[in-house]
Formats: sequence, C-alpha cells, structure tokens
Amino acid sequence: AAEEGFDREDVEGAIEAAGHGPLPVLAVVGRPNVGKSTLVNRIIGRREAVVEDKPGVTRDRVTYEAEWAGRRFKVVDTGGWEQDVLGIDASVAAQAEYAIEAADAVVFVVDAKVGATDTDEAVVRLLRKAGKPVVLCANKVDGPSGEADAAYLWSLGLGEPYPVSALHGRGTGDMLDQVLEVLPDAPAQTFGTAVGGPRRVALIGRPNVGKSSLLNKVAGEERVVVNELAGTTRDPVDELIELGGRTWKFVDTAGIRKRVHLQQGADYYASLRTAAAVEKAEVAVVLIDASESISVQDQRIVTMAVEAGRALVLAFNKWDTLDEERRYYLEREIETELGQVAWAPRVNVSARTGRHVEKLVPAIETALAGWETRVPTGRLNSFLGELVAAHPHPVRGGKQPRILFGTQAGTKPPRFVLFATGFIEAGYRRFIERRLREEFGFEGTPIHISVRVRE
Ligand code: GDP
Ligand code: GDP
Repeated sequence: AAEEGFDREDVEGAIEAAGHGPLPVLAVVGRPNVGKSTLVNRIIGRREAVVEDKPGVTRDRVTYEAEWAGRRFKVVDTGGWEQDVLGIDASVAAQAEYAIEAADAVVFVVDAKVGATDTDEAVVRLLRKAGKPVVLCANKVDGPSGEADAAYLWSLGLGEPYPVSALHGRGTGDMLDQVLEVLPDAPAQTFGTAVGGPRRVALIGRPNVGKSSLLNKVAGEERVVVNELAGTTRDPVDELIELGGRTWKFVDTAGIRKRVHLQQGADYYASLRTAAAVEKAEVAVVLIDASESISVQDQRIVTMAVEAGRALVLAFNKWDTLDEERRYYLEREIETELGQVAWAPRVNVSARTGRHVEKLVPAIETALAGWETRVPTGRLNSFLGELVAAHPHPVRGGKQPRILFGTQAGTKPPRFVLFATGFIEAGYRRFIERRLREEFGFEGTPIHISVRVRE
C-alpha cells in the first residue's frame, strides 16, 4: 500500500473508522422544557433537532449519530412530544421508558434553576429500575452563580450532578467525558446476546398493518417459552418464540401488543417505539399492508431500519384480501416506492390465514447471513481490479480518479473502505455497490462504502 501513496497508519485508521459495528445508544430523557433538545443539538453539533419545531408538531426522527473525543454513538432525543396527553407524569414516564430500554446509557436532564420536581423523582424511579448507567445533567447553569443550584441535585441519589448550559455549551464537555466513561463500546443489547443466544428480531410497521396478528399467529401456535427466562428478566417485553426449529427473540413485543391510544403525540410514540425496537434488534421485519398503497410512513420505517444498519426483511401482509388488480399495482408500487431496498428478501403473508408465514424464517436467516458476510481481502481486490479495469471512473476535469484497493472493515452490516486517487462520485459508488451485490450477495443487508482519497 505504501508505494501507492497511503501509509500504513492511513490505511489502518480508515479501516478502524469505517469498521465499527452497531453503535452504542445514549438516551436523553427528562421533563419537557428542561433543555433536552437543546442538549441533543449541542451533542450532535448540528442545529437539526427539535428546537425550531412548533408545539404539537411531531417528528419522525428520534435517533441521531454523534461523536465525542473520537468515539461515535447514537443519541435518542425524547423531546418531541406533547406533554398533556396522559398527564405529565405518565407521559414523561412513558417516553422515558421506551428510550431507556433501548439505551446503553442515559443522560437525565434536570432544570437546575427549578430543582427536582415530583416528575423528576418519577423518572429517577424508572432509572433505578432499569439499572442502566446514568449521567445527571443539571441544565441551565449558564454561569458560575448557578452551580449551587446544581449541587442541590445530589439529593436525587444519582451521583454527581454535572452543571451544564446546553444553550451556551458551558460544561457539556465534562459531562460528555463522563458519558463516554459509562457508555459501553458496543450496544450490549445487540451484541450481549448475539453470541450463541437467540437472534433478535424487530417486527415493525405502521399501525394496523397486522403486527400483533402476525405475532399471535407465530407465537400462538409454536410458542415454547415466554418471558422470564432465568437471567433475561431485565427486559420483560422481549418474547422468545420458536420458529422453524430455532428460538428467536422478538424484541419489544409488549409495545406491539399494548395499544397506546393517544390523540396527540401518537406518531411520536410510534416512532420512538420503532426506533427503540430497531436499536435492540439485529434484523427488522417491516410489515406492510399489501391491501393499501405503500405510504410515506411505510418508507420511513424501512429507512429507519436501513439507517440503523440492521438486516431487513419486507413482509407484505393481508395477502388473503388481494385481487389480481391489486397484486398488479402492488408490484409497480414496490418497484417505485421501495426500489432502494430491492435487495431485501420479501415474503407475502397473511396473518389471518397463516399463508406463507413459514417463509418468514428462511427470509430472516438469509438477511442475517447477508448482514454477517465477510469478503476476503484477496477476493475483494481481484473483483475490484477487474471491475475498475473494465469500467473505469469517468474522467472529470482532465483527471481520472482510480480505486487502488479496498478492504472490508466490518460486518453487521458489511462496511467497505476503498482507497482511491481522487474523489469518487456518487454514481460510481452506486455502481460499485450494485456490482458488489451481484458478485457477493448481501441479500437483506444494507452495505456501507466509504472512500479514502490519497492526500
Ligand atoms: P425540551 O423540552 O426538554 O427538549 O427543552 P428545549 O430544549 O426545547 O428547551 C426548553 C427551553 O429552555 C428553550 O427555550 C431553551 O432555549 C431553554 N434552554 C435550554 N437549555 C438552556 C440553558 O442551558 N440555559 C438557558 N438559560 N435556557 C436553556
Ligand atoms: P397492528 O396495529 O400492526 O398490530 O395490527 P393488528 O394485528 O391489530 O391488525 C389490524 C387489523 O388488520 C385487525 O383488524 C386485523 O384483524 C387485521 N388483519 C391483520 N392481519 C390480517 C391479514 O392477514 N388479513 C386480513 N384480512 N386482515 C388482517
């Protein structure tokens, strides 16, 4: 590599940067108006989160990627919901619960100017029960005079309160250093059980597509053990279901069965729950109601799973209701609306009649196999060499960037780093992705390609 203009350190650094698996998840929870969204903006370093949003406008996006001191993680923002739906304590508790469950560590934000309220105490009880690492953020300490207010929060019994001004940035660095102290390198939820334990499946989809019907169908008939296995009680909403001769862990099934009927904020809860389930899973089965047009909401849920880097299966439900005409239009819709995930295995099922429900398992297994595929460096480079020779990058401004070599930096999902002599355009990257898929499969998995350009 050295003679091609990359030194060993370059190459190793690029591989390490690209090679991470699923990122650990940090949840930011607290009462409304304590400054959660302001803090999340600060942490992700962009002014993209909820602060500009109007009250009552719900957001779809709840997870963001962040980096601090060279470490990457995800942040779940719980700021985007209406406080008066269930009564304040219940709503804070409900949103915090989902977020905490999906998290590897929690930042609990309290308004230091106001001090600890009963609602704060209610969240503290949840945090204790969950047993996840917590960093206590005493927010709105805009200057030294506020630090005494922060000290009062020792009374919450969560350890040292970190005085922070999310608005001005004061103290956020120290707080984030502490977050990194307690945040594991990889999400315990995904990796802790992945080794030898049951694979984790998230069954997701918009309301009424048939998630709970399908779950009942598969669990009802073949259930062996439900919940409360020794050592797994920490997460009571996951359900072990035996299917196709293997035990699978369906995550957040309580969220599927329990109908949270809310007028306002319902979309937000649904998004938060979906995001939480996706984070906890290795593979997402997105259920789509085949009897209706594919909606923007269906697409968003698919995108959530893809952006989270999970393996993906598309399941089209209510197949029993389809006539020939609908089947025709559905195929067209799938091409236009879901073309970007044409690589996902697809099953057409009916939760009502049980049609093709047995095909779910092979589809899930295919997707997980794609997700874990590792291409040996030698094979990858002979493939790249032939590809680049046969289809060179177009000449741009008199120059022709060339891909010199590549390596797979990680799996779950597969991540590649390509080393090139110049900027590789998006179109050519897509071409390479397409050819990689043709050559090596990767059915059911997103793949990441990053390009390192020689200085
Ligand atoms: P959330 O509901 O918890 O997400 O709270 P927001 O982030 O929307 O903040 C609520 C209000 O508190 C907004 O008006 C913010 O500008 C303000 N705020 C947030 N952080 C700080 C801070 O550190 N200092 C001061 N003075 N105001 C803050
Ligand atoms: P969820 O909100 O995604 O959990 O959806 P449900 O499982 O509650 O189903 C919503 C509605 O769709 C219910 O009335 C179900 O009986 C109906 N349903 C679910 N699956 C099927 C199916 O395969 N065929 C038909 N015809 N109806 C279904």
